[in-house]
Amino acid sequence: MNKAFIREPEFDGRAYCPRCGTLGAPVEHEPLDVHIWPESRTKMGDFAWFCGYFQCEVAYFNRFDAVVLVGELVAPVYPKDLDAPICACFGLGYDDVEADARADSPRRIRELLA
Ligand SMILES: [Zn+2]
Repeated sequence: MNKAFIREPEFDGRAYCPRCGTLGAPVEHEPLDVHIWPESRTKMGDFAWFCGYFQCEVAYFNRFDAVVLVGELVAPVYPKDLDAPICACFGLGYDDVEADARADSPRRIRELLA
């Protein structure tokens, strides 16, 4: 059959990392503007996906096969670097979450949410 008559599957918003195959987390321009060095920022446009697999060197990717590697980020990000804050905006780290999980009350997480 002529390819012109074959319908492409509808895009459902999901995208998988081109290096490791992990389902990406969609992100808009704000985190891209904050986390990527200006020299690499132009590769991504205003919408991309974050690869959350900790051993993968890809930080962000888009549907056009562009990737931004961990080395192109301004600062280390969790979970690529387990010592980096889980929440970069407020500095909440893995140790904070673990301490809250062991405590009687999740004080740090409640303060963050407040
Ligand atoms: Zn990946």
